[in-house]
Amino acid sequence: MEKEKGTILLFPFMAQGHIIPFFALAFKLEKKGYNIIFVNTPLNIKTLKSSLPQKSCITFLEIPFNSSEHGLPPNTENTDSLPYKLSLDFITISSSLEPSFRNLVSTLIEKPLCIISDMFFGWSADIAHEFGIFHVIFSGASGFGLACYYSMWLNLPHKKTRNFVFTMPDFQEAGNLDFSQLNPSLLAADSNDPYTNFNWKNLPNWINSDGILFNTVEDLDKLGLTYFRRKLGLPVWAIGPIPWPASNKQRAGKETGEEREKCIKFLDDKEEKSVLYISFGSQNTISASHMMELAKALDNASEVNFIWVVRTPLGFDINMEFRAEEWLPEGFVQRVFEDQNRGLIVPKWAPQVEILAHKSVGAFLTHCGWNSVLESLGNGVPLLGWPIAAEQFYNTKFLEQDVGVCVEVARGNNSGVKHEDILEKIELVMGENEKGKEIRRKACEVKEMISDAIIDDEHFKGSSIKAMDEFLNAALSMNKISNCVNGE
Ligand code: UDP
Repeated sequence: MEKEKGTILLFPFMAQGHIIPFFALAFKLEKKGYNIIFVNTPLNIKTLKSSLPQKSCITFLEIPFNSSEHGLPPNTENTDSLPYKLSLDFITISSSLEPSFRNLVSTLIEKPLCIISDMFFGWSADIAHEFGIFHVIFSGASGFGLACYYSMWLNLPHKKTRNFVFTMPDFQEAGNLDFSQLNPSLLAADSNDPYTNFNWKNLPNWINSDGILFNTVEDLDKLGLTYFRRKLGLPVWAIGPIPWPASNKQRAGKETGEEREKCIKFLDDKEEKSVLYISFGSQNTISASHMMELAKALDNASEVNFIWVVRTPLGFDINMEFRAEEWLPEGFVQRVFEDQNRGLIVPKWAPQVEILAHKSVGAFLTHCGWNSVLESLGNGVPLLGWPIAAEQFYNTKFLEQDVGVCVEVARGNNSGVKHEDILEKIELVMGENEKGKEIRRKACEVKEMISDAIIDDEHFKGSSIKAMDEFLNAALSMNKISNCVNGE
């Protein structure tokens, strides 16, 4: 089916936190009448094709990638089964896709209206422009988190800040940060470190793009969005949240029907807002000792129901079976699930969007990846933050101090965490106390803010809808100018 509006090519980095919002954006643009080309490596495309609704006409183009050639485990095409260090290597290695991407673009029969690529693919802007194509970066990270990340990498070194509270020279609005909020990769920053060199090259490349799209909401995330407008002098469009299409429940090809039913049945039986949902996203995990402390806190939180998505602890092979008898207190699963019917342990992957939309969920203990944050706040569910990597530390700080919808439970994988403290924070956010009430009220306010941003009817267009229109108009105008210049 030829669509008159033109073709948009999307190319995310190969991690679920990137692929999921890109795929949601692809559906959204297809619904608006654009032809969509979705580029990724063969195994990811195979999975994505299997979760494509029948009505969709998205074209998938494969970009070859041989992980073994780069020292990664064979057939690695996403970060799902990679430990943290190898995930960073994978990001660095992804620059090797540059020649294949240029080749792919050069063989397209019809020139796309726009290329939307991942924030890790700053190099793709030059390729798009070589072929006269409008180029934008799409960030699934928050404006605030990414602004801190950007500023941190370009204002190194931070080793000097050890034990100090510091501010970022070009992002004072972010307020004070503490040494413990530097993520592990920033602590390893060094001119001999491949990930550091990757960031030094990739981040300055963003300026070559024609704009940045954020999966966020203008009123919620103004601080970070303003930073990028000022710093890069580029248009920045907040077009989020881009919801996963309701007609297509399965994401990342991971949710089994059985697991989904178990979760929903568990939630259906529970009182409103009584369940704490716990997940550290698509690739992070906590240490075995932290897992034990968290489980002890849940054991003692007798009033709280919970669903906990568990992954093997830090340092263990992610593909191993989860050994509850070793990593959780003795008899924990039997006690909380079979005896008390108040806790469900879900290995590896849960239907998160559906869980967070369920009325029984009262709070989310999360690593504060931005997709998770939006999925939670979009339902008015307040947060308990436990950031582990990337820009999650800054998201947590922002959500706690600026937005007021989060309480930080712990920070990273090296801090000492006591079960008594975790329990206290869970009770603070979920219990009958003034602070908890205020956090829950704020979360409901943000829910309204988010739903206002995506209102799209004949009387009113929300900020994200307007921003999407502005972005598409900019792509169309640039295309017309470039066609005129080329005499087409
Ligand atoms: N996700 C899910 N089930 C899980 C874990 C994660 O559906 O058990 C989805 C989640 O809904 C979100 C994405 O994976 O859309 C994770 O993205 P996020 O930005 O929160 O974190 P990341 O995985 O990138 O660290």
